Amino acid sequence: MIPVLIVLNAGSSSLKFQVYDMFDGAEPRLVWKGLYEGLGAEAHFIVKDTDGAILDEMTWSRGDRIGHEEALMHLVSWLRSHQEGRKLAAIGHRVVHGGEAFTAPALVDDSVIQRLEALVPLAPLHQPHNLEPIRIVRRRLPGMPQVACFDTAFHQTQSDIASLFALPREMRERGVRRYGFHGLSYDYIASVLKDYDPRLAEGRVIVAHLGNGASLCALKEGTSVATTMGFSALDGLPMGTRCGAVDAGVIFFMLREMGLSPDEAEGVLYTKSGLLGVSGLSNDMRVLRSKAAANADAKRAIDLFVYRITREIGSLVAALGGLDGFVFTAGIGENDTATRSEVIAGLAWAGLALDEAANRGGGPRISTGPGPTAWVIPTNEELVIARQTRSVLGATQAKLAS
Ligand code: ADP
Repeated sequence: MIPVLIVLNAGSSSLKFQVYDMFDGAEPRLVWKGLYEGLGAEAHFIVKDTDGAILDEMTWSRGDRIGHEEALMHLVSWLRSHQEGRKLAAIGHRVVHGGEAFTAPALVDDSVIQRLEALVPLAPLHQPHNLEPIRIVRRRLPGMPQVACFDTAFHQTQSDIASLFALPREMRERGVRRYGFHGLSYDYIASVLKDYDPRLAEGRVIVAHLGNGASLCALKEGTSVATTMGFSALDGLPMGTRCGAVDAGVIFFMLREMGLSPDEAEGVLYTKSGLLGVSGLSNDMRVLRSKAAANADAKRAIDLFVYRITREIGSLVAALGGLDGFVFTAGIGENDTATRSEVIAGLAWAGLALDEAANRGGGPRISTGPGPTAWVIPTNEELVIARQTRSVLGATQAKLAS
């Protein structure tokens, strides 16, 4: 029997999954990937093979009440009926916040769940959804090994100064500091830099993870030295619906002068801001690009996005003391030719020069000339979760055997 692991990434009404064969030595190998969406309403399940061919699909009506628990149990029984000599051996979860305590992936037990629950106030819109499937598996599949993999852990290499806010010391003692996010994505990019250009793996690189959530990370020799996200996943760049960095005074204005409750203010900052808030149209870059020529608000939202990215890059180049390479990744970074070309145009001062044909072709290298190089590298957060899950299990088994 080949042991397999499921990688889960749970959102408020969705459950993304990938199934990997676990072998000794070589990388975990992807077998199937799929998605449940519309959970709690008209749920839909789709699973594909590695070539993207649809293997199975199903839609439930609202009355079927398919939530995360039902979806997870459906997935487990789908796997059982399609396992072809495979056996489910573990589940790896994406967990957005590991706080100060979790600097590496963790084998889940009740105390780990409790400590992760205590971090909900630090990531109120993500952490509860990430923890729900962990609890469900513990209840419905007792004994199934589970590993929590954190978006914050990759940034643990940052210096004390890089992670500090200029707030009173007791705030730092309460855990108020910069954590940084998208660490699973940055971990993947750092792990493959050597395959693109060995000098990048040794050098100073900025990675732009530009998706619905967006951040930049400064890598020195493959480790994180600074990032644009801070205490929560709100900081830094404007995103699809999140504001990015705003003056903290704005929040007091919202509370005192506009009469918003803390929950309402939080809703504005997380779900009504960013590309959506500025354009008044959409959080989706494809929609904004298609309207930008005729719609000034769509253009403004994109211009602000690009402006903020180029400004933040300046700050990270200073933190790195120079720049050897730049990487675009995630939905916008991997697909939006125009955003890449506008960002590179804003980096001429750092010696970057765009290779327009390569950019139109999607890379991987999209720069020309003797300066720092620019790249498009598709991210793979799920593979990092699979790697981490396998390595935590391997370490645990080794400990038990010794
Ligand atoms: P998430 O953070 O939810 O994983 P993604 O990484 O999938 O997000 O990125 C979603 C963003 O990528 C959206 O703004 C979407 O418009 C954008 N995107 C996806 N494909 C394209 C494309 N072909 N051109 C421009 N933008 C794209």
